[in-house]
Amino acid sequence: MKFISTRGNKEIKNFKQVTLRGLATDGGLYVPKDWKIEKKNILKKSLSFENIAFEVIKCFTGNSLKKKKLKEIISKSYEPFRHNEITPLKHLDKNNFLLELYHGPTLAFKDIALQFLGNTFDEFLEKKEKKLCIIGATSGDTGSAAIDAVKRNKFSSIFILHPYRRVSDFQRRQMTTVKSKNVFNIAVKGTFDDCQNIVKKLFIDENLNSQLRLGSINSINWTRIMAQISYYIFSYNKVKEEYKNKKVSFCVPTGNFGDAFAGYIAKEKFNVPINKIIIATNKNNILDRFFKTGIYKKEKVYQTMSPSMDIQIASNFERLLYDLYNQDGNIINDLMNDFSKNGIIKVNNKSFKKTKKIFLSFSINEKETMNSILHAYKKNQIIVDPHTAVGLEASRKFIKKNKNDIVITLATAHASKFSKAVSTVLGFNPDFPQNYKNIFKLNEKFIILENSYEQIKNYIVKNT
Ligand SMILES: *Cc1c(COP(=O)(O)O)cnc(C)c1O
Repeated sequence: MKFISTRGNKEIKNFKQVTLRGLATDGGLYVPKDWKIEKKNILKKSLSFENIAFEVIKCFTGNSLKKKKLKEIISKSYEPFRHNEITPLKHLDKNNFLLELYHGPTLAFKDIALQFLGNTFDEFLEKKEKKLCIIGATSGDTGSAAIDAVKRNKFSSIFILHPYRRVSDFQRRQMTTVKSKNVFNIAVKGTFDDCQNIVKKLFIDENLNSQLRLGSINSINWTRIMAQISYYIFSYNKVKEEYKNKKVSFCVPTGNFGDAFAGYIAKEKFNVPINKIIIATNKNNILDRFFKTGIYKKEKVYQTMSPSMDIQIASNFERLLYDLYNQDGNIINDLMNDFSKNGIIKVNNKSFKKTKKIFLSFSINEKETMNSILHAYKKNQIIVDPHTAVGLEASRKFIKKNKNDIVITLATAHASKFSKAVSTVLGFNPDFPQNYKNIFKLNEKFIILENSYEQIKNYIVKNT
């Protein structure tokens, strides 16, 4: 498959180029140029997660990866998962299912895409001379998942920016206690959006690009979105086998709109007959407001108990816009320029109507999130993290009005990652998986920097 930027630059890239590069040179995101999906029946319950990953990913890799190599990378990427089904599905009650996406090495769903991306980097870089300098921003989970995915890579170093004092102790420690020499953690005195803006700016900085070879692990990287499509199909198959006549929807706790966009692709491009993609946001509800009004308007960022969704600018929203406007990069370029000037995008009626057919959204406040954690524990005997709790609450609201539908809610993190929030509600700490028992005793390594583009850039140049 060939790839192109969302902002009108006509340069065509292959899979290897978009994987290594991340952001397009015009500041846009890479997307497939035309969707030629090989027709093959992927709607079969007998297919394992790895089988489906192979069928999905090979639609995108073109000549960049041999099929045998792709199989090897998939198998290596999902080997460290603690569950043999990789993303097991749990039946909660009548029409409510939970898709457990947190069985990877760092306990969040991001492992699913990042383990694959880390191994793909290593495959593509083997024979290259210039090291890859991976730069990413994290609101908590991306950083640790990315660091784990590349800490053994020989040909890359990684710089992760996180908002100082705005990630949980455990999340920070997952990043800062990794000892590898190629790992650098920067605590930025600002918000996640500040971190993300600096990262975006670094990628289009010509001076920096002439010195370093930059790679991205944020969900602006197409390969991450791609690797998340598989579990929608895998879980859909499982449910559909038993509930042939029911509609199946997915509920996605959403921040940067990467995960939800992968669901959109499963539905719209792989033609999986998903009913609705339900967008569940916390109090930071720019997407909920958009799907209700057609107006995408930036507001201030609130700190909540689900910090990985404390985001106002959802990067991958641009990919949806591009598709809504029939893949016209010039329009998207104008809309995005407007947005960076005025902080607002209003889509036309036709586009808004399209979104209404596919998406539905809810914004869940802190009290509802806490109640949802309690509800899951009392009614379903499970301990869920606050992000998953946001999803479950949105699902319940949906089911109230759609009593016959099935909803699969994505469980995006293991509860122990957010033990403070969970113990506030339940009065006890969820257990850590075995390999994390020591984390509060290990030494940390990170640097604190001002929210200053130049300072951060200099630090990266000096340490690459
Ligand atoms: C990253 C993350 C999300 C949000 O995912 P997006 O792809 O950014 O929408 C939700 N929950 C958890 C636990 C996360 O780490």
